[in-house]
Amino acid sequence: MAGGARRFPNISPQDGRVLGHVHEATREDVDAAVRAARHALPAWAALPQDERVRLLHAVADGIMARIDDFVAAEVADNGMPAAFARRVDVPRGAANFRIFADLVRNVPTESFAMTAPDGSPAMNYTLRTPRGVIAVVCPWNLPLLLTTWKVGPALACGNTVVVKPSEETPTATALLADVIAAAGIPAGVFNVVQGFGAGSTGEWLTQHPGVDGVTFTGETATGEAIMAAAAKGVRPVSFELGGKNPAIVFADADLDRAVATLARAAFENCGQVCLGTERIYVERPVFDRFVAGMKAAAEALVIGRSDDPATMLGPLISIGHRDKVLGYYARALADGATLVTGGGIPEVDAALAKGAWIEPTIWTGLPDTSAICREEIFGPCCHIAPFDAEDEVVGRANDTPYGLCASIWTRDLARAHRMAAAVEVGICWINSWFLRDLRTAFGGAKQSGIGREGGVHSLEFYSELRNVCIAL
Ligand code: NAD
Repeated sequence: MAGGARRFPNISPQDGRVLGHVHEATREDVDAAVRAARHALPAWAALPQDERVRLLHAVADGIMARIDDFVAAEVADNGMPAAFARRVDVPRGAANFRIFADLVRNVPTESFAMTAPDGSPAMNYTLRTPRGVIAVVCPWNLPLLLTTWKVGPALACGNTVVVKPSEETPTATALLADVIAAAGIPAGVFNVVQGFGAGSTGEWLTQHPGVDGVTFTGETATGEAIMAAAAKGVRPVSFELGGKNPAIVFADADLDRAVATLARAAFENCGQVCLGTERIYVERPVFDRFVAGMKAAAEALVIGRSDDPATMLGPLISIGHRDKVLGYYARALADGATLVTGGGIPEVDAALAKGAWIEPTIWTGLPDTSAICREEIFGPCCHIAPFDAEDEVVGRANDTPYGLCASIWTRDLARAHRMAAAVEVGICWINSWFLRDLRTAFGGAKQSGIGREGGVHSLEFYSELRNVCIAL
């Protein structure tokens, strides 16, 4: 792992404690990491596929063998409840290596027999080759899950990587480097540079001419900056960006299931899930019942220390992010919202007073034009609005520059299919949310992303296709 002379503090979101100091990679460190990745590339790309697959399974085993360490790292850096890290973030980290290791072994490439103009036969076939050195720039909300979602397929396809974790959550990726080395993956295949984004490590990495492609998860505005950096040298990008995901509940839906699931969609991981929903449209006849159910669900959430098994809601990532979310809480009231529940900072014990705690919050009564209904807040909150007709709600759901996902609730099969075709998103859940099959395409429409990852779709970014034509 590269590290310069400058250090920055890693601060606990739970109590404001300084957990440690992290070396901020300099421009020279970034250059050394990219050169190490370039140096390691030919041997890693040439490794027999079975051997690469074996090593990636060893990484997955190594993650699960150290699950307690990963859970502790995620809880400390991010503040997510330990139970959530143990159930979702860390096992998915391991699964991301297994699924892509197995996938690359089983994906065929195409071939076409043809007849040349002179009548002689020829054969075309496709070779899949690594793209090269991949820069992986990650956010803080699900650090191990989101990093491995990119590193797994990148390594499986024979690329080498330089990973820039979020400055908020440096530890899981550092641990991953240990696990990868212990699994026997050669030095230089996986490199980590810690630091910030603009004017720091992230910018230097994405601008580096030795990088052959940039895969990024984070805010849409950051994506614009990275795309500009990648334009120099015409490097391809794969982006998973922000969202303002709608949920739509029709009156015929299983309301109890809708409430239970959409309460997760709004509040899980303290609302810091890209797939989460911050705007819910409910058909008028069941609107009051739905709002009452969501209010009860929000008020039943146990807020507390992330390592307490009873805790359901941890803090936000930082005091800075809480200030931003509280700004939206104030804005909602200024815009005339009805506050259903929450809206402020909860009481926590004195030892946690410096943490980024916040109440789960629900509003009603705002127009669709309000900033609360249009901008990504990334906190434990949602606005619930009534609707009267299918066409109307489709128009309102689609009236956004984003297009990551939607969650539709109805028992009417024909309507479910109509809605799936009508919502402008990359992922549409019917009577469900965050139900992921890792073989499926994942990504956002409109400003929520570029490209798709998941299953064979990941291979489109992490490999190059070479057509070979042989005159016979
Ligand atoms: P962010 O964009 O602020 O930062 C993400 C990463 O980019 C960090 O590592 C940061 O240091 C780096 N970065 C920032 N500016 C940069 C620059 N100019 N050049 C290079 N790197 C730079 O995002 P965040 O606050 O860490 O994460 C939250 C955001 O991520 C939300 O918008 C959320 O919706 C989005 N997200 C999307 C998905 C998805 O799959 N679509 C998944 C998770 C999170």
